[in-house]
Amino acid sequence: MEVIFLGTGTSQGVPMIACHCAVCTSTDPRNQRTRSCIHVVMDGLHIQVDASPEFRLQCLREKIEQMDFFILTHGHSDHIMGMDDLRRFCDLLGGTALTVYTTDEGMHRVLSIYPYAIVERPVSLGYAAFKLALMPPVLELPQGTINTLGLIFQEKSSGKKFVYYNDCKRVPREAIALAQGADVVVLDGLRVEPHPTHMNIEEACAVAAEIGAPTSYLTHLTHRIEHKEWSKKLPTGVLLAFDGLRLKL
Ligand SMILES: [Zn+2]
Ligand SMILES: [Zn+2]
Repeated sequence: MEVIFLGTGTSQGVPMIACHCAVCTSTDPRNQRTRSCIHVVMDGLHIQVDASPEFRLQCLREKIEQMDFFILTHGHSDHIMGMDDLRRFCDLLGGTALTVYTTDEGMHRVLSIYPYAIVERPVSLGYAAFKLALMPPVLELPQGTINTLGLIFQEKSSGKKFVYYNDCKRVPREAIALAQGADVVVLDGLRVEPHPTHMNIEEACAVAAEIGAPTSYLTHLTHRIEHKEWSKKLPTGVLLAFDGLRLKL
């Protein structure tokens, strides 16, 4: 299994517009974070999770050239606004609609933002077409007023297990139990200060310890997290994700 971190930033991105803090002006590429989304290759299947506003640039940077289906964790802008660029993958699939797995809330958002793309097949080459499907079975994580999909990937051929719990305020007991035995876990670790709809570093580290995977990565990071400085402060086995990070499981 391979996991490619296309983006690891929070909704505003890092650098943030008109901010001159040490992280926003840092030359360390690990402090430059586009909005979060990942690409997973498992048993030869290419699965895209979310499409950030920088999705097209992320695909070019990481040479993403194939997609079998798409998962939208929830309908917030930083995860949905790159979806129009999925059109290229409809072409590459031979001019068919791309299957989009999501929640009720995600479907509602896709329908309101991309009504033109809810068609059986692209109108012509270069147009987006989505076939909406409810994610089965659904594992939802609370994030303020909405829930976001918690994702567990298990590769049949290798038995490797990868957990992606991004953009959430809490990881419920059921989700902790389902994540047991994971090789790698990714958690929302926004910033140091508490936040009403995201886990902060301390909360994410507590969840990482409860799951007990050998390696956990924090993502959806703000400009308050300097990569080098925070990498030294985190508990053993907890690391910061960064744009372009590739994990081979
Ligand atoms: Zn987000
Ligand atoms: Zn800043």
